[in-house]
Amino acid sequence: MFKKRNVVKMALVTTMAALLLAGCGGDKASTDKDKDVLAQIKEDKKIVFGVKHDTRLFGLKNPSTGEVEGFDIDLSKALAEEMFGKDVKPEYVEVTSKTRVGLLNNGKVDAVVATMTITDERKKEVDFTDVYFEAGQSLLVKKGSKVQSIDDLKKGTTVLAVKGSTSTINIREKAPEATVLEFENYAEAFTALKAGKGDALTTDDAILYGMADEDPSYELVGGTFTEEPYGIAVKKGNQELVDELNKALKSLKDSGKYDEIKDKWIKN
Ligand code: GLU
Repeated sequence: MFKKRNVVKMALVTTMAALLLAGCGGDKASTDKDKDVLAQIKEDKKIVFGVKHDTRLFGLKNPSTGEVEGFDIDLSKALAEEMFGKDVKPEYVEVTSKTRVGLLNNGKVDAVVATMTITDERKKEVDFTDVYFEAGQSLLVKKGSKVQSIDDLKKGTTVLAVKGSTSTINIREKAPEATVLEFENYAEAFTALKAGKGDALTTDDAILYGMADEDPSYELVGGTFTEEPYGIAVKKGNQELVDELNKALKSLKDSGKYDEIKDKWIKN
């Protein structure tokens, strides 16, 4: 009996030692990152933002300079400076609507600033800041199209959308007779629209304005039929980081810097 207890004790001590060692061992960075993204940002002196590369006005890679440009980029840069001064360098990694939650949860990005709507469904997987931009879903068509609103998306029509977006879910619900074709990103979806692969492209009005701006033979029709409040997403359980981002967002709004950035990109 006595012996058996000792064996159990020994096993417990060994397990605890192993756990302690694992906690302090070579894998420290990823272990810490799992626990506290904000602490890791401060330690690394860099914050990695997940941004779009395919979305004019919000996050678009400029092929001539290789730089990513847009409202989400400028806003995240300003937020990083507001939170950490010059101590922490902002870095950018491409996300798409489909990949952004996964890249956040596997630690490849610290915060997603990528036209991402706050929804109850997504709140199960990630944490969001306060709303930083209000959009609404709409339709983009070739000028002169017979499709002028969501009511025209009847049987036999095809709508183009992007995988992992709220737009695909909403359009299936609101225009159930239409065929929905899903693409990897907005650049591909717009190319498909121009190639005549669909009658309309659907996503947030703010994103569609960027496309209409790029090619004026396309226009938005029918107004908006959803509300798409954008939030910055972080890995679940990082309330401190959410609080810091919210504080910084409020300061940028109070100082007029937020409006300055918004006015630079958003004209409609
Ligand atoms: N805001 C919508 C969403 O979060 C559409 C834009 C996007 O795909 O990022 O899904």
